[in-house]
Amino acid sequence: MQADVFAQDVCYLKGVGPNRAALLQKLGIETVGDLIEAYPRDYQDWSHPVSITAAPIDEPCCVRATVIAPAEERLLSGGRRLYTVLATDGQVNLRLTFFNARYTAAQLQRGRDYLFYGKLGAGFTLREMVAPQFAPAQTPPALHPVYPLTAGLSNKVMTGLVKNALARCDRPLADPLPDAVRRQYGLCELDRAVETIHFPPTAQAAQEARRRLIFDELLTLQLGLARLKNRSRGVTDVVITRDRTPDFFARLPFAPTGAQRRVIREALTDMQSGVPMNRLVQGDVGSGKTAVAAALCHTVALNGWQCAVMAPTEILATQHYETFSRLFAGTGLRVALLTGSQTKKQKQAVLADLAAGAVHVVVGTHALLQETVRFYALGLVVTDEQHRFGVGQRAALLKKGSAPHMLVMSATPIPRTLALIIYGDLDLSVIDELPPGRQTVATYAVDSSYHERVYAFIRKHVAAGRQAYIVCPLVEEGDEPSDLTAATQYAETLQTEAFPNCRVALLHGKMPAAQKEQVMGAFAAGQIDILVATTVIEVGVDVPNAVLMVVENAERFGLSQLHQLRGRVGRGQYPSTCILISDHQGETNRKRLNVLCQTADGFRIADEDLKLRGPGDFFGARQHGLPRLKLADLLTDTETLRQTARAAADLLQTDPTLSRPEHAGLAAAVKRMLHRAYTA
Ligand code: ADP
Ligand code: MG
Repeated sequence: MQADVFAQDVCYLKGVGPNRAALLQKLGIETVGDLIEAYPRDYQDWSHPVSITAAPIDEPCCVRATVIAPAEERLLSGGRRLYTVLATDGQVNLRLTFFNARYTAAQLQRGRDYLFYGKLGAGFTLREMVAPQFAPAQTPPALHPVYPLTAGLSNKVMTGLVKNALARCDRPLADPLPDAVRRQYGLCELDRAVETIHFPPTAQAAQEARRRLIFDELLTLQLGLARLKNRSRGVTDVVITRDRTPDFFARLPFAPTGAQRRVIREALTDMQSGVPMNRLVQGDVGSGKTAVAAALCHTVALNGWQCAVMAPTEILATQHYETFSRLFAGTGLRVALLTGSQTKKQKQAVLADLAAGAVHVVVGTHALLQETVRFYALGLVVTDEQHRFGVGQRAALLKKGSAPHMLVMSATPIPRTLALIIYGDLDLSVIDELPPGRQTVATYAVDSSYHERVYAFIRKHVAAGRQAYIVCPLVEEGDEPSDLTAATQYAETLQTEAFPNCRVALLHGKMPAAQKEQVMGAFAAGQIDILVATTVIEVGVDVPNAVLMVVENAERFGLSQLHQLRGRVGRGQYPSTCILISDHQGETNRKRLNVLCQTADGFRIADEDLKLRGPGDFFGARQHGLPRLKLADLLTDTETLRQTARAAADLLQTDPTLSRPEHAGLAAAVKRMLHRAYTA
């Protein structure tokens, strides 16, 4: 019953027409359930109203006052109407003003007491509140919800809609949590939690409700992840008996580092065991993860099994394809590329070869996930920069084989405890050593008065045969503020004004894939001197002759993202430089950029980023391919995480498939979560 109402389109709700439905959709709210789960991001405290005299200036507060003069209308220029109402606390008067809100203002009656919520301004002669919210003073004092909003949708409307949504459900709401679990962990009932988180009588009640709902969220997450991971402890036919890495090492243009050798050995040991490998390889930018993947694919393929390597962008997939093709030349192994932008004919040829076993290693993008992709004998799945993929996407690729091995590679450092939650029984290998002779990239943070000097510096390096990147924040995405450098226009200006004698080209995410590849290819081949780019180059791109990374509006990027960008240079034998340009004067911004100037250690940078930005953002679920969490925070809700881990383990022990009737609600929640993870 409840599930039905929850799944109903919001447009069937009282108060929601096509316009509001569109606004709600902007907030990600499509169903009645979404609306009920649009929890307040904060509360207004109406529980301790003060007198006008005692109210603070310019801070949100709740004031109690008596209306002494009803609404007075004034016509303003432009046809706007201003309504003013006068109230008093007996000592001081308060003017309340409302624009174009005749109905609202008319609700205030002379001689009655009200609570007004808003910011108090100190006018010349009297105090004033512009467009306050209000309620009759005899309404019980409480906390009022503050919802995430979008232009055209007020908090008041949102509050009303949530009330309507709750009224539409059969109450009490069916509780998915078995009573025993609820009691064991001292949690309130779902119905109470949902009602209270929207309309809490006290701050403590709100806290209790939050705890219950966070518990639900994390329990569902852990049950869902457990389901995805279940496969790992089976057996597999993919047993790699012959280690061919010595042959592969002989083909490499460099000697592998000790860390690379160790990680390869760890993975090979897994793949010899008869149990499917589940291994995460973490290595900072430039630590040489590609060579590790290639070594493993080489051995697996020579043992008669196919390999699939999935990368998050076409540029990166193409680049890996080229690297693999080069390294495998003469081995008899065939490498193929599969991306969304290939012609139908190209794709069909690859698909046929894959199904027939004529291709040994396929490198591709999300295109690999399509139903039409079938393997002859899939033995190893590698996902590069795994945080870009959803948990469900990884699982979908694995399903294309019968218990294939899995290797995920990531440059994003994750604290150990979090890695355990996210990856569970995934084994961890760390490449904790950079290839020898790596130069640290000298990094400077400057303001835009340095532009001329930066350009001269670029010209000098181009004259010496080197190449440069200039990165601008993405503008084509639409609503970005106009003061951002428009990449397209910027590239043209650079070509004609700053670098008339250099070859400048533009690369951005909205370009057709074929064109992107062509530009990237030309840059890799040294036919372009200066690449003006958006962050499409952030992930993995490898051009050792590029020695300069200039980032415009550096304040717009996360620290780890800047670290990734910087990782595009300093990859060859030449000293490299990264210049971060920012006119943003904020203290935090300066500190952030200084962190990059001072260290090249990705783990430390992630740590600092975390301290300066707070966890919500950095370890946001999206970064790790998890469904977005509504309330829970994986970094700070550690106690609840521990409890839910235990609860999940207990539940799965007694009912591994959650098929008992008392677990039906949980099973449905898990299914919904997996669906979201899959479609994320
Ligand atoms: P990432 O770990 O960021 O994916 P890559 O695999 O792209 O790093 O490697 C970065 C660069 O280092 C590439 O140019 C690669 O050829 C080179 N490289 C990798 N391993 C070694 C090594 N052991 N010695 C020297 N260069 C190496
Ligand atoms: Mg890489």
